[in-house]
Amino acid sequence: MPPVISFRNAAKDFRVGKNVITAVDSVDLDVERGEVVGVIGYSGAGKSTLVRLINGLETPSRGTVVVDGKEVAGLTERELRRLRAQVGMIFQQFNLLNSRTAAGNVAYPLKVAGWPRERRAARVAELLEFVGIADQARQYPNQLSGGQKQRVGIARALATDPTILLADEATSALDPETTRDVLALLKKINTELGTTVVVITHEMDVVSSICDKVAVMENGRVIEHGPIYDVFARPREPATRRFVHSVLRDRPPPETLRRLRHSFPGRIVTVAVRDDGASQATLARKLGEHNVRSTIIYGGIGELAEKPFGSITYELVGEDASVDALIAELDQLASVEELP
Ligand code: ADP
Repeated sequence: MPPVISFRNAAKDFRVGKNVITAVDSVDLDVERGEVVGVIGYSGAGKSTLVRLINGLETPSRGTVVVDGKEVAGLTERELRRLRAQVGMIFQQFNLLNSRTAAGNVAYPLKVAGWPRERRAARVAELLEFVGIADQARQYPNQLSGGQKQRVGIARALATDPTILLADEATSALDPETTRDVLALLKKINTELGTTVVVITHEMDVVSSICDKVAVMENGRVIEHGPIYDVFARPREPATRRFVHSVLRDRPPPETLRRLRHSFPGRIVTVAVRDDGASQATLARKLGEHNVRSTIIYGGIGELAEKPFGSITYELVGEDASVDALIAELDQLASVEELP
């Protein structure tokens, strides 16, 4: 099956006064049908612009964006409307119409798409039921909680039965519990309706709980792309590594490291725990083989994509030569970094 979204050498420039900002630069990226893809990267990296190229809210300055077999730039006004019905979008700030009820908001895109009134009501009821807020149909947005508002946003985005759903920081304004509920709903949309989902996020929880793949952006470019475990466990680019450390907090941040040094004057190393590395038992055995005392001072092990994933920071105390030998041996088993 051909990819449902395909960027080829795609770029987007913005003219700001006399300057040109290249928000998206030479992007080659395929999104397969039925995938959930996370787009991550620091603020200003070009994530929103990249996603807005998918539904034609932006047109590429160079290169091509093909969605469901059609090049977006070449679409007529009418085809563009059809594309927008095929690509739903949800937002951090929900972007609901405050003058309309929940049901009215969900009905709106159906009205735009020319659905007759009688059919609209049944579809709206079905959608509100699907997102779990059937009992809130007559409420106005300011009477709803954040989570309920986002459910209305999701129902509205699904109204025209899109093949693709774009989510721009859709859970960033929600508390952790509501975030979990909304993520579960996005996953349900993906599995039950087969919708391809592209999420922009800076939250690791979003990536680890629903994404199959992740694309990392920096300075308008997609610098890394692949299954989430591969990208997070073995980042190739320094920028990805920086980003991974900052979102995972998998090693003590500078303030914490300073504090730890007071209590643990020995040498400090962080050992990455991955599916291809040493098992915990092998690491523990290795740590006992040298005349070095090791103390776990930071970190932990969790799971990512159902595989072990984490890092443990140790204080190692012993003769320098013994500690060097131990670090060299650990390095054969796993990725080890001595912290300065
Ligand atoms: P992100 O979503 O990763 O924060 P954006 O795609 O919003 O990044 O922005 C990428 C760059 O393009 C930023 O430098 C931003 O200021 C610039 N930019 C985005 N949209 C516009 C616009 N409409 N006009 C001018 N500059 C823009």
